[in-house]
Amino acid sequence: MRVTGFDVDFFVIGAGSGGTRAARIAASHGARVMVAEEFRIGGTCVIRGCVPKKLYVYASRFADDFEDAAGFGWHVEGASFDWPKLVAAKEQEISRLSGIYRANLLKAGVEIIESRATILGPHEVQLAQDGRKISARHILVATGAAPDFGLDCTGHELAITSNEIFDLPQLPARLLIIGGGYIAVEFASLMARLGSKVTLVFRADAVLRGFDDDLRVGLTEAMLAAGIELRAGRLPQSLQRTGGGIGANFSDGSMAEFDQVLLATGRRPQTHGLGLETCGISLGRNGRIPVDAHGATSCPSVHAVGDVTDRINLTPVAIREGHVLADHLFGASSIAVDHHLVPSAVFTTPEIGTVGLGEAAARAMHPDLDIYVAAFRPMRATLSGRAEKTVLKLVVVAQSQLVLGLHVLGADAGEMAQLVAIAMKMRATKADFDATMALHPTAAEELVTMRQPTRRYRQSQLV
Ligand code: NDP
Repeated sequence: MRVTGFDVDFFVIGAGSGGTRAARIAASHGARVMVAEEFRIGGTCVIRGCVPKKLYVYASRFADDFEDAAGFGWHVEGASFDWPKLVAAKEQEISRLSGIYRANLLKAGVEIIESRATILGPHEVQLAQDGRKISARHILVATGAAPDFGLDCTGHELAITSNEIFDLPQLPARLLIIGGGYIAVEFASLMARLGSKVTLVFRADAVLRGFDDDLRVGLTEAMLAAGIELRAGRLPQSLQRTGGGIGANFSDGSMAEFDQVLLATGRRPQTHGLGLETCGISLGRNGRIPVDAHGATSCPSVHAVGDVTDRINLTPVAIREGHVLADHLFGASSIAVDHHLVPSAVFTTPEIGTVGLGEAAARAMHPDLDIYVAAFRPMRATLSGRAEKTVLKLVVVAQSQLVLGLHVLGADAGEMAQLVAIAMKMRATKADFDATMALHPTAAEELVTMRQPTRRYRQSQLV
């Protein structure tokens, strides 16, 4: 649908996952589309998030592979790791991907403006590059989120964030990581394997608040086994430069020195200075833009998708939100995004894959539950000798047998969560899992062979 009277039909601020998808789909519906990006095409996921992180995770896992190889008869001697080589290889790959994003936008007929853009009113934006004003029928804010520096710690500006860690000139020998969420545990796990001595400090009593407790316990054990020092309930109160690096003074009175400090205490929507107030849009918690199921803000011509809305901050969610919005505005479809049963993975080693409710969250909603847990030594560890545990868990409603949650800690957990999410979207029951033939020998076969519940809750009581 082409709308006249404006310079463009759709002006997208931010060429990340959500913005580029919305721009391309809108263009495919015939809209005149312009997208503005102030950093690099591809956004956080491609440039300094999911993609480089997963490449570094792959790099880190060779450390375990080389160690494990001996148990299978291999002699691997003299293996060494070259950080600058990994950084350069990563840069080449993300530049290639960014180029593909750019080419796809251009192929779709989208005009790319490499500049910051701010909103002047419900139908007008201004480009920082040359001051040009562009009128638009619809404006999309897809500016994502940025690391939060909200930690109460003097000298926190000495710390780096996930934006900088990928491009450090050298691997830090001693790394302090502050935080216990996704970014903190993923970097703790990968940097320890690449050779850093990692200390992980967080305010809670365990990492990954909100995840199923069996996985949190299993991951904690795995991180300790990987030589990571974990300090629960302890945060630095101050950081200062020392002769040899950065000194951290902790809340328990202790002091230690590090080469780098990574601040991973959450991310904030990037809404500051965008001009949203010129459209009467009030920001919500953490600076987020409140939107409805289609990405509409309180201003009818301004929309928002992805991390800037601070709902489920994951790339595929932003992509789906961008796609659905473009269909809604310029195509025939008006389907809203379904944010229910979104699978996610934490790329630690071993990794976490999860979809649906954890045991504690399910207990808060259902009095009668059957919990199935299989914890075992994976087959590979029998010859490698590695002390490693795989955990598979199903949370099931007792009466209906509906599977409410899948939680996996182990190799390829993310792959398992993606596939089981399909079955769960189809409302698979435990009986459906039981009726499925096992595939042997795999770890995932445990999901269809767990006969007896490990725990039962009836009327909210453990029985
Ligand atoms: P998270 O929300 O996952 O974790 C933030 C951590 O910082 C928590 O441990 C939190 O503690 C702690 N924290 C927050 N505020 C403070 C404070 N003031 N003082 C001390 N500690 C604090 O954020 P991340 O930055 O790790 O990741 C941001 C988001 O990016 C994730 O939520 C996720 O949506 C996405 N992401 C997804 C990945 C994936 O899919 N694999 C990978 C990386 C990021 P507490 O738990 O006590 O609140």
